[in-house]
Amino acid sequence: MTSEYTVQGHPISALAEEFGTPLYVYDGDVLRDVYLSLRERLDPRVDILYSAKANPNVSVCAVLRSLGAGIEVSSLVELVTAKQAGAAPDDVIFLGPGKSLDELIACLELGVHAIVAESLEELELLNDMRVPGGARVMLRVNPSFESKGARLAMGGKPRQFGVDQDVLLRSRSFLRSLRHVEVIGIHGYMGTRILDAEDVVHNTRGILAAAEELSAALGFELRTVDVGGGLGVPYFDNEKDLDVDLLATGVNTAVAEFLDRRPGCRVITELGRYLVGWCGTYVVRARYVKESMGEWFVVADGGTNHHMAAVGIGSFVKRNFPVRSLTRYTEPALRPYNITGPLCTPNDVVAKQVALPEVRPGDLLGVERSGAYGPTASPGLFLSHGFPAEVLVLDGTPHLVRRRDTVDDLLGKQELIAIGD
Ligand SMILES: *Cc1c(COP(=O)(O)O)cnc(C)c1O
Repeated sequence: MTSEYTVQGHPISALAEEFGTPLYVYDGDVLRDVYLSLRERLDPRVDILYSAKANPNVSVCAVLRSLGAGIEVSSLVELVTAKQAGAAPDDVIFLGPGKSLDELIACLELGVHAIVAESLEELELLNDMRVPGGARVMLRVNPSFESKGARLAMGGKPRQFGVDQDVLLRSRSFLRSLRHVEVIGIHGYMGTRILDAEDVVHNTRGILAAAEELSAALGFELRTVDVGGGLGVPYFDNEKDLDVDLLATGVNTAVAEFLDRRPGCRVITELGRYLVGWCGTYVVRARYVKESMGEWFVVADGGTNHHMAAVGIGSFVKRNFPVRSLTRYTEPALRPYNITGPLCTPNDVVAKQVALPEVRPGDLLGVERSGAYGPTASPGLFLSHGFPAEVLVLDGTPHLVRRRDTVDDLLGKQELIAIGD
């Protein structure tokens, strides 16, 4: 008897049969539960914006939107995605260090809550656009304090993001000279994959303090502060779940103190990975199972071309995402396997020496907690395999939310030129 993995009652084999593999499956129940359990713990005065880049699928965005999340976007297509997902313009912000003129125009046309300006030069460009009433911006500060706990720091160091706090503090007259820009607040984002609640609280306090200091020094009314986020999902053996109760208590206290001083100020946290990471499973089918010099290899139909994060960039020792046999979900482990994909590079290793039940060709394997930074953060065009299908199971019904790339999708944009001989 094998007992296979199911998603809301659907056997994984049926989903794989219907939609093919490789496949991303998002469990809408998990997506909802993660959001709501954070929402009910956080002070209702803290708005949650979903950072679309973690999983920009329009239906995933729409689910979070339907639960009350706003959307934080960083490209023209993400902006259109937020609109199609039904986000109210006032619940959308646009950030990114290299915005194009077209993106800025689209933000102004839609009337987003704020453009998050990441350089003084960007502010000048916006000012030159002479928007009637002024373009609403938040200033992204690269704070003087160091971020804590982030696996990848985005602030508190030399970075292309935002403007250094001390530079901003010296920019009062420059900002005054911008007649067509309206500064409404401060944005700070310290980095990603934070798993210690205290570190999130530390960053929140630091950004709230920086915001107050900057508003006083620069003489603008603080109407919105985005305190960032960067909440992590544990992927590897030695990592522990973020303590959301502790986090909420600390953040709520900091926010309550802040709002006592500044009633009515909008407080935003922007979260990507934490909201979507848990709900996704990358499903591949074992094609060949073989032994090489004493190690067992499962060559699957998908690999790091769809799940680059599983490569584990930046660590010397390969650390594995949670990988399971979905076909023999409850069976005990038999031996360690290397799970590899179809690419012709030795780096195409999804998991190294992971203990699994026996794997036979045709079995389904799953990389869990993979709802964030999956296909769209992976080299899906490598070897022209293209991107996998994505399925969202919502209220018991599986929906294809992105169809698999076809040969035409991949070749249709290329031109075969006439070559004389
Ligand atoms: C990527 C990014 C996010 C989302 O980060 P997560 O760690 O996925 O929550 C939020 N804000 C900014 C500025 C980002 O660059």
